[in-house]
Amino acid sequence: MTAQASSHVDVVVAGGGNAALCAALAARARGATVAVLERAPQHMRGGNSRHTRNLRCAHDAPHAYVTGVYTEEEFLDDLLGVTGHATNHDLARLLVRESATVPDWMAAQGVRWQPPLAGTLALHRTNLFFLGGGKALLNTYYARAERLGVWIRYETAVTDLLLDGRRLEGVRLADGTVLRARAAVIATGGFEADLGWLAEYWGPAAHNFLVRGTPYNDGAMLRLLLRCGARCAGDPREFHGVAIDARAPKYDGGIVTRVDAIPFGIVVNRLGHRFYDEGEQLWPKRYAIWGKLIAQQPDQIAFVVLDARAIRRFIPPLFPPITAPSLVELAGQLEAQFGVDRQALVRTIEEFNRAAAHNTRIVPDVLDGACTRNLDPPKSNWALPVATPPFFAFPLRPGVTFTYMGVAVDAAARVLRQDGVPFHNLYAAGEIMAGNILTRGYLAGIGMTIGTVFGRIAGTHAAAHA
Ligand SMILES: Cc1cc2nc3c(=O)[nH]c(=O)nc-3n(C[C@H](O)[C@H](O)[C@H](O)COP(=O)(O)OP(=O)(O)OC[C@H]3O[C@@H](n4cnc5c(N)ncnc54)[C@H](O)[C@@H]3O)c2cc1C
Repeated sequence: MTAQASSHVDVVVAGGGNAALCAALAARARGATVAVLERAPQHMRGGNSRHTRNLRCAHDAPHAYVTGVYTEEEFLDDLLGVTGHATNHDLARLLVRESATVPDWMAAQGVRWQPPLAGTLALHRTNLFFLGGGKALLNTYYARAERLGVWIRYETAVTDLLLDGRRLEGVRLADGTVLRARAAVIATGGFEADLGWLAEYWGPAAHNFLVRGTPYNDGAMLRLLLRCGARCAGDPREFHGVAIDARAPKYDGGIVTRVDAIPFGIVVNRLGHRFYDEGEQLWPKRYAIWGKLIAQQPDQIAFVVLDARAIRRFIPPLFPPITAPSLVELAGQLEAQFGVDRQALVRTIEEFNRAAAHNTRIVPDVLDGACTRNLDPPKSNWALPVATPPFFAFPLRPGVTFTYMGVAVDAAARVLRQDGVPFHNLYAAGEIMAGNILTRGYLAGIGMTIGTVFGRIAGTHAAAHA
């Protein structure tokens, strides 16, 4: 199809991130005519997906891009563990099974991988990293889609769905024009960029959150689907949220603003108090709870405090640490800059150091059991005293990655109505249906797995309406 305006396609895909492109490529591969409608301008295309680096896949043997074995059973166990079994088990199993086929399919689209990485995140066994990151991944998908004749329109928001009962007839665009289609895949992300919507569940605190990704994921399509009778999946309060540097921009700061220092220091709020076990679990299984933990603190701000022994143990963050030769001086700086209770902070660190005094070394990549004694909250692993000068602190805010509430889907990625009957030809993929699987907790790399697996499924089934 040419780029001239067309009033009819087989499959219309709303969104321009990973899930949308996977759906478009899968539908086009089955011979359907496909239009991708991306709300962002071309230079900002790709939603949150352009910030990503890896995805999680099951595999039975090591190869050039992953180490060891990661069986479907282990993947499923990990998922059940982080969600506390609160997941749609059928869709979770489908996701895990299909994840094993994803790397070959992606490679066939032209995606290239980088060799396994060591480091704080310890993902070399479970996750594959895209060579060039999410932007290269999306450039590859867009280039392939264009080559295959997918019609791509930028700065084109879908604003309405034309439904006749359970059947979709087409979509309306922001400029009022109508695009008729035999099927639609909605892959417009979550509602994380609409802090007003998050404030409905989090109160005014939400306005202190920083959004790590695109400002275009305002959830307008999610609202519309729910208004059209789609069944809701997932908890509206739940989101993937990490600790990011409080100096990061309000939107689109991306990966470099994340602070991975927490397991190696202590975290205090503005009152100078610790509030959670910094060494509870290995970082890939815990980093995504810290956004919400900080969201619950006064003024939604916290501080990770470290000493000279800890400062080189994590991925260097973008912003420089606040630095001082003594703990008293560090506390003074945090008081002057952020209103932290200086005396309480010094007391907290002294208490922590007494409780960790028996630990002389830590082993970063395993649960090393180097815990505090008689401290509440405890630090269960990697608890070295914060005692070697100079001292450092990073100010932290909740960085919202994506929201979990979305629309319910079936195994064909069809959107379910409230009565449990699917819409005939309306599909959803990616963040907008992640809440079927992720009700809480997170496994690093599963966001892109959900988008890739369900994008492919949605595109394949949508093409059958052509
Ligand atoms: C900084 C950062 C790092 C991350 N790293 C990883 C990682 O390494 N691995 C991982 O698995 N996950 C990661 N994630 C999560 C991951 O980005 C998401 O799970 C995934 O990208 C979701 O894909 P998607 O296609 O559903 O949404 P998106 O990629 O966000 O795409 C949504 C698209 O919809 C468009 N859109 C919105 N509204 C409309 C509308 N009305 N009409 C038309 N278009 C619209 C947007 O412009 C956008 O293009 C990261 C997220 C962030 C923010």
